[in-house]
Amino acid sequence: QLADESVGMQELLISPLRLEPHPSLPLPADLFGSHAGARANSTGLDLTVPAHREPLLAALNTTPVPVVPEADVKTIPGAYAACASSYQIWSKVPVEDRAVVLRRAADALQAAMPQFCALLVKEAFKTWGDAVSEVREAVDFLRYYADEAQRIMQPISCPVVANAQMGYQYGVTGETNTLRLTARGVWVCISPWNFPLAIFMGQVAAALATGNTVLAKPAEQTPGVARAAVDLMVAAGVPADALQLLHGAGETVGAALVAQPGVAGVVFTGSTQVAKIIQRALAAKDGPIVPLIAETGGINAMLVDSSALPEQVVDAVVQSAFRSAGQRCSALRLLVVHSAIADGVIEMLQGAAELLLAGNTADLATDLGPVIDHEAFDNIQRHIARLKKESKVLLAPAESAQAATKPIANLIAPHAFEVDHIANVKAEIFGPVLQVVRWDGNPEDVIAQINALGYGLTLGIQTRIDSRAQALAAAAHVGNIYINRNMIGAVVGVQPFGGEGLSGTGPKAGGPHYLYRFCAEQTVTVNT
Ligand code: GLU
Repeated sequence: QLADESVGMQELLISPLRLEPHPSLPLPADLFGSHAGARANSTGLDLTVPAHREPLLAALNTTPVPVVPEADVKTIPGAYAACASSYQIWSKVPVEDRAVVLRRAADALQAAMPQFCALLVKEAFKTWGDAVSEVREAVDFLRYYADEAQRIMQPISCPVVANAQMGYQYGVTGETNTLRLTARGVWVCISPWNFPLAIFMGQVAAALATGNTVLAKPAEQTPGVARAAVDLMVAAGVPADALQLLHGAGETVGAALVAQPGVAGVVFTGSTQVAKIIQRALAAKDGPIVPLIAETGGINAMLVDSSALPEQVVDAVVQSAFRSAGQRCSALRLLVVHSAIADGVIEMLQGAAELLLAGNTADLATDLGPVIDHEAFDNIQRHIARLKKESKVLLAPAESAQAATKPIANLIAPHAFEVDHIANVKAEIFGPVLQVVRWDGNPEDVIAQINALGYGLTLGIQTRIDSRAQALAAAAHVGNIYINRNMIGAVVGVQPFGGEGLSGTGPKAGGPHYLYRFCAEQTVTVNT
């Protein structure tokens, strides 16, 4: 145990003896498989146990991905009209009864775990570990928002406040005041391909729990998962007109939904650029001011000081940067490591990354699968080519290894590059590509440089100096901060998730303030 006071804010030099020659990290071959998934969300499923694993694998052959026709934008006004009239009924269903429907959907989803995992593996190229985690997260969203809607939608009385201790009071006697939340109307939910079930369900469940109705546009790449999710919700008791799926491109179907007169709110997860397009489109509309909840990307950093435990750092880096092929908005993009331990950490990281198995995600042993599509692949490859020229290569598969991976389309093995300055890291690369910067001096200056990137989604801090961890966390303009662990896989209700600045508007998904944004507030004053 290190005493903060004895080291002050100086760098503490820990002996590099703990570093072993690489590949040194005793990582299991299925690093991102059963263990990480099970730990992250307590599914109770361990994929190393045949009885747990076999139903999942069997579902792969028996679960076809639904074929979803694209919506014609001409049908959107009609879909809206049906959704708006359904709102008149659904919003008047008592919140307790809406919660029952959502909980029923959660139970059904849990029971259909193998089928939904199979869909995620087939349509979104999720590993089994990631698929299990995602189904669990979707179940959690349904239950959490059901509970939360019941909690916050009870009317609260606002009595006259007397602060006897301070000798004042405010409010007027002779009146009763009640504050209550009401639904707003028809919400447009636009969700991403990287969590085609959990984020889709989370948005939809939040809107429905609070009495709103929904026009949902899933990512173009993953409409099948969304179709299955909507069918499950309707079977659980959500009226079909209250939750309608409109599949198509963002530029056409998404834009038409946002432009549709009467829409009460938009919830969007995706790129910062598209969030701004939506914000501008909403602002340009006639009529009411329409709220937007946007959850976008990040250039997420991990700051490592010289007191950090290298094994723990490397484990957290590998998980955060390369799990899910780096296709999480929470993923680590920029490792900022103190120069006293940088060489050792990099060497260990190279060793650990070599153990990762990139391949077909239907295979249980695979740690990371292909990126979502050819466009993403090309874009990431362009960044890799640029970084190969501009920086020092730390991790890149040999040409021969790349040739061996060719049969699987869009597969990108983990890459890492050392760059000179934090300010040089300009773009969020949405794939398994890590940039590493060495630092010396004052860690608060490093946080200031990270803040200056303008994003603010996740931050990792690795230090054994407790007071430093707290001071750095307080200085960071970041929504989710993880100290001495990995920085992905926020758990519903426990780690409310979402950022600030270029990373989003808040409120945080899976947190106690989220549902308020889906509601209007009404104060009723009665003269007694
Ligand atoms: N909530 C996810 C996590 O903590 C990330 C969500 C996203 O990528 O949009 O890893």
